[in-house]
Amino acid sequence: MKELLRNNIRNLVPYSCARDEFSGDADVYLDANENWRDFIHLDSINRYPDPLCSALRKKIEEVMLLPFENTVIGNGSDEIIDNLVRMFCNPGKDSIVLFPPSYGAYKVFADVNNVGAIEIPLLPNFDLDMAAIKKLGTENDPTKKLLFCCSPNNPTGNAYSLDTIEEICQSFKNIVVVDEAYVDFSDKGSAVSLLSQYPNLVVLRTFSKCWALAGARVGILVASSEICQTMRAMKYPYNVGLPSQKAAFHALCEAKAVRKELQNIKRVRTLYREKFQSLACVTNVYPSDANFLLVKTVDANAIWHYLTKKKIIVRNRTNQRHCENCLRIAIGSEEECRKVYEALASWRK
Ligand SMILES: *Cc1c(COP(=O)(O)O)cnc(C)c1O
Repeated sequence: MKELLRNNIRNLVPYSCARDEFSGDADVYLDANENWRDFIHLDSINRYPDPLCSALRKKIEEVMLLPFENTVIGNGSDEIIDNLVRMFCNPGKDSIVLFPPSYGAYKVFADVNNVGAIEIPLLPNFDLDMAAIKKLGTENDPTKKLLFCCSPNNPTGNAYSLDTIEEICQSFKNIVVVDEAYVDFSDKGSAVSLLSQYPNLVVLRTFSKCWALAGARVGILVASSEICQTMRAMKYPYNVGLPSQKAAFHALCEAKAVRKELQNIKRVRTLYREKFQSLACVTNVYPSDANFLLVKTVDANAIWHYLTKKKIIVRNRTNQRHCENCLRIAIGSEEECRKVYEALASWRK
């Protein structure tokens, strides 16, 4: 892994926080230039947050079974994606590999960092183009540093099998990033089970979807302790605010309720896949391993405007590759899904 790093990152001396020098409890904290007074009633908000999110990571180990040493907490997974690009890719020289249609952020962060983006489009049925991916592996180009594989994929909703992910890890020698933002909604398993065999694999998780904390901005990198240590050294020291760390901790304490709602979301997904499929303006509803349905319609632009006028906002994905006339509809409450269904049922060209 070391030889893949940018030189400046390999030789980086990490920022030293005041609280690096002291651990444990004390009565007087005058080491970090904080205001001693807590004006608003969020416990300890006058203090800097734990830069390493240790309490949260311990809880993550306990509830999600992700080992403490193998996690880094980010300001959403977006921060982690940007950190990975900045850790590994030399601007103006290196590239990332993408499988469009997929999550738009990968390309944005590549662009921001002046890093190239090489596209291997999905096949029209949304499967990975394994022949092209294996050819990429054989080519073994050292400037193609990172490969982003989103599974379950956004916006197509399908998850790739673990056998497929494993084949990619074997053939692509640089870093394979598997974005598992929606993994909780899938029955196909997590690539975390492959981490011990493939040190070039990194997995992304987030509290934004199943854990209902999109506003808190908490994402997780799961990777070898070597990659985790490097990211801890180069990230913004106080990248996750205290209320966010606490919110994620408390969400994990409610894991039982969250898992129950997860079952409910899956039930509503099955129900509305069938219901949407029966509508005159719908030509196909793709199977989904995520908390949304990709719905192919007779006219996505017209239907999107119609729904918007009725104050129903869905995502128009018609301009994405292989997604002509598709709308991406999240699984909300049963009430919300029923409103979308009824609006679609009364749509006329
Ligand atoms: C929603 C989503 C995320 C989550 O990003 P956060 O920054 O953690 O909110 C990551 N990847 C994909 C593919 C997503 O759809």
